[in-house]
Amino acid sequence: MENGGGKKWGLTSRANNKFKMASETSIRGALEILKGSLDAADERPTIPLGHGDPSVFPCFRTTHIVEEALNDAVRSANFNSYSPSAGVLPARRSVAEYLSRDLPYKLSSDDVFVTSGCRQAIEVALSVLAYPGANILIPRPGYPHYEVYAPFINLKVRHFDLLPDKGWEVDLDAVEALADENTIAIVIINPGNPCGSVLTYQHLKKVAETARRLGILVIADEVYGYITFGSNAFVPMGVFGSIVPVLTLGSISKRWILPGWRLGWLAITDPNGLLKETEIVDGIKQFLSFSSNPSSVIQGAVPQILENTKEDFFNKIISVLRQSADICYDELKEIACITCPHKPEGSMFVMVKLNESLMEDIHDDMDFCLKLAKEESVILLPGTVLGLKNWLRITFAIDPSSLKDAMERIKSFCQSVRCAVCTNLRGHISISWPPFQSQVLNESFVRRRYFAKPRRWQDFCGAHM
Ligand SMILES: *Cc1c(COP(=O)(O)O)cnc(C)c1O
Repeated sequence: MENGGGKKWGLTSRANNKFKMASETSIRGALEILKGSLDAADERPTIPLGHGDPSVFPCFRTTHIVEEALNDAVRSANFNSYSPSAGVLPARRSVAEYLSRDLPYKLSSDDVFVTSGCRQAIEVALSVLAYPGANILIPRPGYPHYEVYAPFINLKVRHFDLLPDKGWEVDLDAVEALADENTIAIVIINPGNPCGSVLTYQHLKKVAETARRLGILVIADEVYGYITFGSNAFVPMGVFGSIVPVLTLGSISKRWILPGWRLGWLAITDPNGLLKETEIVDGIKQFLSFSSNPSSVIQGAVPQILENTKEDFFNKIISVLRQSADICYDELKEIACITCPHKPEGSMFVMVKLNESLMEDIHDDMDFCLKLAKEESVILLPGTVLGLKNWLRITFAIDPSSLKDAMERIKSFCQSVRCAVCTNLRGHISISWPPFQSQVLNESFVRRRYFAKPRRWQDFCGAHM
């Protein structure tokens, strides 16, 4: 279409490439691709174990307290105005009180900034700390938004490993080796997404001491705070605020099962006031002065939500999660092509490893998830999205009966995958492929014939174990 003038329409977006990359590396981007693989002819319901949003399941329905809180906020007519950029005062005050319950010092409303979910709190924290050449240490596996957002603000990302054999603790030696004079902070997600780990007091203290030695802040992503059902209780990182300044991030999305309400916070848990002497606190205020705020009326509901929610509600949610985590862990033991190194003790997720050598037809974790979606209508998240190839993230935050159904489907999918050694179906005991019929397989023969590299004998299919 002509625009009449001499100049052409400027209808391109030069940022498109950046957006494309960000969307493909995000969880939602990966899940969109997997949804495209679902078989429309499969009449069974799709079971979504890829993302953590249990709000659709009746057993995870939020408490009536939040519904009353929102009603009251609406009817009061006190929250129809624009919000101050740091958030409405009663909301800041109540978050400060909520977080102070388990800290050895008290936060004030000035220490709290209300954000549009924990996700915006991440964006604020990273944006304020970034400068040209700066880098940040983030966990692998981790939560992709740190990684997805960093390139937009020219922040470099360096990964330290979480150690599956040590309950997904931080590899502190790696942290020491990674940090340099341009490192600004270390990100700790506890309770852990994607690993379902809950870090101990002792380990968190070591993290704080390491960060202090390195002269870097801790960004504590505690969006799953208090969602624990194993032997370790949740310890807020702010407990160690006098060792190292901590930026504590949280939201009502997970504990109150309200991810759509987009209400989160960033709190400065720094009793020595080290951050006040820097420009960081000013930076947070300035950043929030030009970004968009969460809706005032949702903020208006926050004091009643935080103060009035009954323990019963939390206990009920925790008990469903504990039951689901048990189902997930127990059923996984029966599935030969997947190994779970650590039973989940918190959050809503578990990381499991694919045993590649058991699978002939599967190339990698993405391929596994695509085929699983197509054949069994179950969605899992490929570990690649979280930094670990050939791992999978499973959320067990769905109703227990659907979870059981999903585990059965995964089991039958794994049994239909061909063994990499004999091309037998994984679940069959007898060997039907002619060359191997009634032969006792000899390991060196298998190695010579099928693999360049030696593999562990136990990794082969059930028929060969
Ligand atoms: C869900 C999640 C967030 C984002 O929380 P919202 O409040 O939904 O923005 C941040 N960090 C982690 C680790 C999460 O799992």
